[in-house]
Amino acid sequence: MRSSPESDAAPVIARPTAPWLTPLCDAWRPRQRALLAQQVQLARIAAPTGNEAARGDAVLRRLARLPHLTVGRDHVGNVWATATPAAGHGRPHAAPLACFAHLDSVLAPSPDAPIRCDGVLAQGAGIGDNGRGLAALVALAHALGDPSVQARLTRPVHLVATVGEEGEGDLRGVRAWCDAHPAPLHAAIAIDGPGDEHIVHQAVGSLRLRIAMHGRGGHSWAHAGAPNPLHALSTFVAQATARDRGILASLARSTRGRAALTVTRMHGGESLTGIPMHAHVDIDCRAVDTTLLPRLEQALTHLAHAVAAAESPDNGLSALRVDVVRLGHRPAGGIDVAHPLVAAAQHATAAVGRTPRSAAASSDANVPLARGIPAIALGAGGRGGGAHTAAEWYDDSESHVGFERLLRLVASLATQPIGRDA
Ligand SMILES: [Zn+2]
Repeated sequence: MRSSPESDAAPVIARPTAPWLTPLCDAWRPRQRALLAQQVQLARIAAPTGNEAARGDAVLRRLARLPHLTVGRDHVGNVWATATPAAGHGRPHAAPLACFAHLDSVLAPSPDAPIRCDGVLAQGAGIGDNGRGLAALVALAHALGDPSVQARLTRPVHLVATVGEEGEGDLRGVRAWCDAHPAPLHAAIAIDGPGDEHIVHQAVGSLRLRIAMHGRGGHSWAHAGAPNPLHALSTFVAQATARDRGILASLARSTRGRAALTVTRMHGGESLTGIPMHAHVDIDCRAVDTTLLPRLEQALTHLAHAVAAAESPDNGLSALRVDVVRLGHRPAGGIDVAHPLVAAAQHATAAVGRTPRSAAASSDANVPLARGIPAIALGAGGRGGGAHTAAEWYDDSESHVGFERLLRLVASLATQPIGRDA
């Protein structure tokens, strides 16, 4: 590649501060309360991971009203909309931009814990993560139809509401979408939750393990002392997480907090008065450096077998059996802070008067990043907290700031002059 800035092969930097973007963004400023109303409506439709169909229907209905888009739903339930450059403008076959917002939430609203909204404050499971991202995705779909964008569109833009982003979903929606679109993307943006400063360009990888132990069980008095999967798993958890010398402690020392190991669930036993036959613990391991994850899996597996052996009698007849099952594995990846996509996001953040901050997180951006596609994750404006709990809250006070940042970035990438490398 030649290095002259005049060369058509030189990397073309998106310009999120281009003057034509200001009237486009100003038009969205008074529409923020309507956007909040959309957010609340979407969040009120329960969509726990694996059951996103009803919320997907609602997003699809909203997108289908927009004549400048082609829309549809794929075989896993992702809802998509595509804006294509008009004939004579742009390049319909240029590398596309993809924006993802996940449909699912960890917890669903319920009659006991509904989504509430009072003025600019809203509360309830999934109101921000990812009610905010979905409402912003639909608003972006509208904005792409603005004549100022339509006249400048240089590449296709895919807007995708994905299934299965949270927990057990294991990013299955974004994986399926990327599998079905093997041609290179120009860039991908995951729109996830509130926020107007952070730019996630490091994907945190994760490994979710279930460590199960099985024995012959028995009567709690007649067979007292027989191998007990719950006792053994308790010992396993205590040893793995011991503050001074466990796997968790050595992980914290060696990674300075860039990795985490969390025991998230424990289940076991069949009756109040019997020695259990089955028990398991679930463990969520996360790290930016993915080489750590297989090493953690090995260390945990080794410890589980050692503890089960120590808990079992010498004759081996009633020895505890150990199963280690991967419940999920999210790839990690990242792009440098100096990458043109991150630089464009930083410019967009500064353009709305906020301070860009680099971050690492787990999102739909993990999959494109792990496949070598430039990708980031951004919040969609407003402030929030308590994600993944029933007490999740969202404050819409200055939401136009974050939405404007997103709109500037997406519109500038979608209308960026295309060099030969595009
Ligand atoms: Zn999320």
